[in-house]
Amino acid sequence: MNVYDSERMTSALGARGYVETTSPEDADMILLNTCHIREKAAEKIYSELGRYKPLKAAKPDLKIGVAGCVAQAEGPEIMRRQPMVDLVVGPQAYHRLPEMEEQVAKGGKPVNTDFPAEDKFDHLPHSQKAKRAPSAFLTVQEGCDKFCAFCVVPYTRGTEVSRPVVKIIEEARDLVDRGVVEINLLGQNVNAYHGHHEGQEWGLARLIRKLAEMDELKRIRFTTSHPNDMDDDLIAAHGDTEKLMPYLHLPVQAGSDKILKAMNRKHTAAYYLRLIQRIRAARPDIALSGDFIVGFPGETEEDFQATLSLCREVRYAQAYSFKYSARPGTPAAEQTPVDEAEKSDRLSRLQALLTKHQTEFQQSMVGKTLPVLLEKPGRLDGQMVGKSEFLQAVHMDAPQNLTGAIVQAEILHSEKNSLAGRLR
Ligand code: SAH
Ligand code: SF4
Repeated sequence: MNVYDSERMTSALGARGYVETTSPEDADMILLNTCHIREKAAEKIYSELGRYKPLKAAKPDLKIGVAGCVAQAEGPEIMRRQPMVDLVVGPQAYHRLPEMEEQVAKGGKPVNTDFPAEDKFDHLPHSQKAKRAPSAFLTVQEGCDKFCAFCVVPYTRGTEVSRPVVKIIEEARDLVDRGVVEINLLGQNVNAYHGHHEGQEWGLARLIRKLAEMDELKRIRFTTSHPNDMDDDLIAAHGDTEKLMPYLHLPVQAGSDKILKAMNRKHTAAYYLRLIQRIRAARPDIALSGDFIVGFPGETEEDFQATLSLCREVRYAQAYSFKYSARPGTPAAEQTPVDEAEKSDRLSRLQALLTKHQTEFQQSMVGKTLPVLLEKPGRLDGQMVGKSEFLQAVHMDAPQNLTGAIVQAEILHSEKNSLAGRLR
């Protein structure tokens, strides 16, 4: 979502003549896209801003902006803490960036953290018909109504809104016309999608099946899903829709029912495990990925053991895990925290197990021939990097004119986060 939002900001500022640069020294404007999900992520922006102080001193015209969920949550407070900031913009207001930039040019210090009353998706940038990279994100849904006890998303991203089917198809058509062959449908709660179409309500599976009819579109993915919104149709789609890739990110957060309840996740560990069985029955080779929080208030060693045991049962191909971080304004922030050293210890034990499973999954690819979508040049000369159907990065020697092609690659070697292969 953050990568996608950065693209939107770049595209919106194109209207004022801006183009992207990778070097802060070259920039006329520096926009920090910030994340508020954990305290560490939010605090990082102040140290990052400090690094730009000399640049601003040397070039007073340099505009500095803070965007994203920290901007949404802290608003004008950011300018109080760091007066060199010229603009603050929340995720709901990126379409306003061109006029905000104009205000800054006239000496203003605009802050926009409004939730728009009108359809914010209508303001998504329209295509300039420029060619795109082979894989693209397409937002189908934004926001979340689930209010997990630890999470700021419902506060920073607002309530759940689904885009109408026709708008999504229009945008998908445009992407495909510009060379996109893989679309990753995006939403904070993507499988809660319920878009309107000709008086009916479409779920995510129906939308995926419709998009799969586009000949030039070869691969469809979606992220991120909630276990309670995995309906029968979506499970079935994993078995019957060839273009839907065999990879599912399905965060569970914890394996103890007591903790799941305290987190307000509204399902049990047994429900989740049964769900995984049903998904695997539909698509036996599916690669599963998850998110975990350790040290949620009230989590005992026994609760933590339940998380480890759930992981052993699922054997995730990939996973993200975090220490619980109290977020102001969320219900869990009021509760007694778990000891910090204990949290660190649990995190390293969980990560050791997750890494073991991930390494085994990566290793199991060696010797196989996999279809790989080539996306961009690799680090070494003559190398290209692409993705397997299971979302693994795969490097191989290949000519650049194969960008956007799905090739067959024999896997020679595996690392924790990538594979090395040879063109077949
Ligand atoms: N909608 C997704 C998650 C979005 S947030 C879902 O429901 O699963 C991404 C991940 O950040 C979460 O899955 C969670 O593991 C982590 N996270 C969110 N709030 C957190 C907090 N307060 N402390 C630690 N990790 C957190
Ligand atoms: Fe946050 Fe995900 Fe829970 Fe929504 S479902 S509140 S985004 S963790």
